[in-house]
Amino acid sequence: MNPALPCVISGMRPTGALHLGHFHGVLKTWVALQAEHDCRFFVADWHALTGASALPHDEAVYEMVVDWLAAGIDPERTTLFLQSRMPEHAELFTLLAMHTPLAWLERVPGFREKADQHPTYGLLGYPLLQAADILAHKGEWVPVGQDQAAHLELAREVARRFNHRSGRQLFPMPQARFSDAPRLTGLDGQKMSKSAGNAIGMRESPASVHAKLRAMPTDPQRVHRHDAGEPERCPVWALHAVITPSDDRADLAAGCRTAGIGCLDCKGALADRIVAQQAPWRERAAALEPKQVHWLMEVGTERARAYARKTLREVREVLSFQAEA
Ligand code: SF4
Repeated sequence: MNPALPCVISGMRPTGALHLGHFHGVLKTWVALQAEHDCRFFVADWHALTGASALPHDEAVYEMVVDWLAAGIDPERTTLFLQSRMPEHAELFTLLAMHTPLAWLERVPGFREKADQHPTYGLLGYPLLQAADILAHKGEWVPVGQDQAAHLELAREVARRFNHRSGRQLFPMPQARFSDAPRLTGLDGQKMSKSAGNAIGMRESPASVHAKLRAMPTDPQRVHRHDAGEPERCPVWALHAVITPSDDRADLAAGCRTAGIGCLDCKGALADRIVAQQAPWRERAAALEPKQVHWLMEVGTERARAYARKTLREVREVLSFQAEA
């Protein structure tokens, strides 16, 4: 944690072990940001309660954090913490709620549709809790997907209103850091996701990676080995496009179009790439002890709380509440 650097804050719902879509969509960016930012990444276990029928398991939290560390998140430089251990986020959420017009929350895209399924106050307040997560740390950069742009805009509006009413620039305006990573295609050609059952895990065994790729559908017009194919029609190619370097891709594409290679050769090359990428992740994860992971989260949560406490003291002072002794 280096408060002299610009603060980046982001969270992830605890869904257990992560897959390649998480790595290429989010984690790769998180790892890169650590070099020049004060990064705080948290387990968004309160957010996971929104509309959920069951509480997140400790095991799901643990497996996800192991994958963060396996990917290269460095707990010496980056603060990792649990949202549910941060009462300051809940307090700031409450204080911000007092000044946030209901209409701002009701117009967040997707709210009306989701409210039909989960008509809860938590769903309505979800983007405001996200704003509190960011503002409690005075976050300046927030890595988000385009689907979260409206949530970040709400955080900016809330910060702007608070600053204006208090006459102090207490909160910086958080900026979106959009990922340019394409959505990773899953084994069925649709977006990779755990719930769709089409994912390859970050720490999946090499044998399983090879087996899953062998079973993937290919260009439907390439029925026989001697048929020429077209990579752009093939779901396997969508994975090559993200994972395989461009020189190798050019050779594979030529081989596909001239029937110079078979689909099993092409899938084998992809599986080898994935297995090689996973090797350091598996190695780092194998070296971690459960106690060590829990300890890292404890230390990170205390560090994060110290910072959020300071912000909340300033907020209370602005609102003229009696400061903590
Ligand atoms: S050779 Fe590769 S890109 Fe071409 S159809 Fe087969 S799996 Fe798809």
